[in-house]
Amino acid sequence: AKALDLGVNDYLVRPVNKNELTARAKTQIRRKQFEDNLRHQYEKSLTAAVTDSLTGLYNRRYLETHYEELSRDLHGGGKPISILIMDADHFKLVNDDYGHAAGDQVLRGLAHRIMAGIRGFDTAIRLGGEEFVVLMPNVDGRSAFIAANRLREMIEASPFQISEDGQTLAVTMSIGVATGVAGEVPLEGLLERADQALYTAKNGGRNRVETANDSPVDELHQPEAIRA
Ligand code: GH3
Ligand code: MG
Ligand code: MG
Repeated sequence: AKALDLGVNDYLVRPVNKNELTARAKTQIRRKQFEDNLRHQYEKSLTAAVTDSLTGLYNRRYLETHYEELSRDLHGGGKPISILIMDADHFKLVNDDYGHAAGDQVLRGLAHRIMAGIRGFDTAIRLGGEEFVVLMPNVDGRSAFIAANRLREMIEASPFQISEDGQTLAVTMSIGVATGVAGEVPLEGLLERADQALYTAKNGGRNRVETANDSPVDELHQPEAIRA
C-alpha cells in the first residue's frame, strides 16, 4: 500500500510467475510509450504555436510573450532594449518575376541570414509577409544601429541562387530601429516607433537603416554622427 501511495505503477508478489512478469512488464512499457508519445505531441504543438512554419523563426505570438518576460526580468535596472523591424525591398517584384515558390525560398534565405547575423541573446521573429523583427535586450540605440547596418550589408552582399543555371538575385532590406528602457515601454509602442523609422528608410531610398529619434535611451547613448 505504501509503494502504491508513493506512485509505483505495478507490483508482483513472490514467488514471481514468469508469464505474469512478462505480461505486466509489457503493459508498463506500452503505458510508458503512450505517455512519451503524448508528451512529444504536446511539446511539438507548443513549439508549432510559437514558430513560423515557412522560415522556422519564432512568430509574433512568441515575440509578445518573450517581450513580457524580458520586461519583467529587466524592469527597474534602467537597461536599454532595442528592436529592429526589417522589411525586404520591392519584394513583390521577386514574386512577380520569379514566382511565389522562389519568393518563399528567398524568405527562408533571409531568415537564415538574419539568424546567422545576430547574437545568442537576440531573438529573430517573422512578423508576417516579408517583415522580420529582431529583439535585442541590453542593447542601446547606437549598438542596435550598428548591428542593423551590419545585417543590412551582409544581406546585400549575399545574393540568392534562384535557378539551376546559376542565376542570382540580390535582395536588400530596409530597417527601422527603436530603443527604449526595458520594462518601461510596451511592445506596441516600440514596434510603432521602429515602424515609423522603417517608413523613413523606405522613403529615403530603401536598403538603409533609420533610427526612431524620440527615445530617451537614444539621447543618452546615440551620438549625433550616427543619428544623422
Ligand atoms: P517595399 O520595398 O515598399 O517594401 O515593397 P514590397 O514590394 O516589398 O512591399 P509590398 O508590401 O507591396 O509587398 C510585399 C509582398 O510580399 C507582397 C506579397 O506578395 C509578398 N509576400 C508576403 N508574404 C509572402 C509569403 O509568405 N511568400 C511569398 N512568396 N511572398 C509573400
Ligand atoms: Mg512589408
Ligand atoms: Mg517590402
